[in-house]
Amino acid sequence: MEFQAHQIKDILKIDYRYTMGGQSKFFIELMNNKKLLGTKCTKCGKIWMPPRINCSECYEPAEWVEMKQTGTIDVSTIVWYTTSAFIKAIPYGIGFIRLDGADTAMLQGIFSESLIPSKVKKGKKVRAVFQKEREGKMTDFFFVPEDEYESWIIKSEYEGGSE
Ligand SMILES: [Zn+2]
Repeated sequence: MEFQAHQIKDILKIDYRYTMGGQSKFFIELMNNKKLLGTKCTKCGKIWMPPRINCSECYEPAEWVEMKQTGTIDVSTIVWYTTSAFIKAIPYGIGFIRLDGADTAMLQGIFSESLIPSKVKKGKKVRAVFQKEREGKMTDFFFVPEDEYESWIIKSEYEGGSE
């Protein structure tokens, strides 16, 4: 008789924790103090944002530095398909943002109250807005066009940064 696998449908639930390792300080300062920390190479001076514990160019240690919370969009696109966490936000922008003073760019969401592609295009200035309820995750903050900043931080669920 041919083998026939018997299948039972079930649910597997796993509670677990994972560590952010050497990048932990970034997430702790984000959660507790609404600061955005980058790192500066102790040898070549390159400023990494997102932070790297060791410089990816000269391999020397990098030290923590507080970054400005304003920056410029290097490249962006509009998101129409996403995970359940962001489904209500569709459509929204996402892009590589170079914070003022940083030598590298970070990938992050760019939200706008009246989203049109020209508001989130390359070269546009953006500023970080923070969730009031923070968990130490990348979703604790996002960027908005600089001229929309004041209207975002007065919303009940958001607030401005440490500056
Ligand atoms: Zn370096």
